Amino acid sequence: AMFGNLSDRLVEALSNLRSKGRLTAADIDGTVREIRRALLEADVALPVVKEFAAHVRERALGDEVNRALNPAQQVVKIVNDELVRILGGEESRSLTFAKRPPTVIMLVGLQGAGKTTLAGKLSKWLAGQKHSPMLVAADLQRPNAVTQLQIVAEQAGVPVFAPEPGNGVGDPVQVARDAMRIATEKLHDVVIIDTAGRLGVDEELMRQARMIKEATNPDEVLFTIDSMIGQDAVATAQAFNEGVGFSGVVLTKLDGDARGGAALSVAQTTGKPILFASTGERLDDFEVFHPDRMASRILNMGDVLSLIEQAQKAFDEEEARKTAEKIASDQFTLEDFLVQMQQIRKAGNFKKMIGMLPGMDRNMKDQLENFDESSLVHIEAIIQSMTPLERKNPKVLNGSRRARIARGSGTEVKDVNELIKRFEASAKMMKTMARGAMPGIPGMGPM
Ligand code: GDP
Repeated sequence: AMFGNLSDRLVEALSNLRSKGRLTAADIDGTVREIRRALLEADVALPVVKEFAAHVRERALGDEVNRALNPAQQVVKIVNDELVRILGGEESRSLTFAKRPPTVIMLVGLQGAGKTTLAGKLSKWLAGQKHSPMLVAADLQRPNAVTQLQIVAEQAGVPVFAPEPGNGVGDPVQVARDAMRIATEKLHDVVIIDTAGRLGVDEELMRQARMIKEATNPDEVLFTIDSMIGQDAVATAQAFNEGVGFSGVVLTKLDGDARGGAALSVAQTTGKPILFASTGERLDDFEVFHPDRMASRILNMGDVLSLIEQAQKAFDEEEARKTAEKIASDQFTLEDFLVQMQQIRKAGNFKKMIGMLPGMDRNMKDQLENFDESSLVHIEAIIQSMTPLERKNPKVLNGSRRARIARGSGTEVKDVNELIKRFEASAKMMKTMARGAMPGIPGMGPM
């Protein structure tokens, strides 16, 4: 699968942390070491790996982890943030269209990178968005390149501009120029130029690409790179960036068991965004590249990440930290329990949120299924009918006090008894969680 091995390794490195409550510097160093090894084995370029590891380490040792609801989860979030960063950052950019059509998109890259296939994919995708693309066969080097482009164009249902057969080798620069005129005449609003690639980077290839670029003044030059080329990715990308110059990157063959190195190195080392990913031989195996989605795919932790965000939004961090301290020192009272109930209600979709927690056991899931959120209202009423002393120290709750509370809250004594039992069980469980047995989301007692 896409990034399969890398993904497994990262998830493993991070899940080792998840069994721990507090993280020591040694825990973090161990994890960073594993992450580093995983990235190197996935062929990510060394400078990128070094910087990645340094950032993760620095942030993981810092305050944001210390103060987090759950330190291990916070480290997951940091690794995710850093993955997003090296894949190009939060903002994913799409194609730039010309103010005055036609928009010109030029494809460059080594032979076999997947340019011709990409031309078909891109044109089909654009045609699906009410554009009227035209493909241009400016790869006159490789035998069959023109025919191959004609085949994908037919599959995509878009026209191709190609030199007349029998005119010798032809001049790709002239073909590109003629294509621009034809596109304007025929009202095509996007022109996609497929250029020649070589098996390796060479000056003649670069010169020709530069001339086509000068002749057509493209809005986008997309550097197409085979994700499987591993450690060569960075040097190839740099050669094209210096030799031709490009505005964006397309990763191809992400469907193979690519180790992912190219993907994780190229954006960072060239400073150019990855715009699309090609994930198979069929024209539909094509997607807009989103760094954030790709990162959570790699970490395989989309659910956990959105949980962390939701939990952070729902629970005041300062409150949560105080609660954790109280739980740890056995000072957790019904007063705190009430505050938590109110926070849970504020959080809204409570069941769904808790359901996303990894490590929920069967029994807890069942309890959750049977949990009626409206019972929170009763719980609140009961606690509100207690005196401050009773809330602080439920041990004083004898029979007559319980009867009074039941009357005051419009419930029955058995409801009061039930709540106190739950509270005690909850406090006990949260104590276990505070020691790191499970992600410590407050308020998560058995209901
Ligand atoms: P070009 O020389 O850069 O034009 O590369 P081609 O478009 O001819 O692609 C080279 C080979 O890679 C062809 O056999 C394609 O079918 C294949 N290919 C292209 N893109 C992908 C992809 O995303 N996944 C897979 N598995 N194969 C691809």
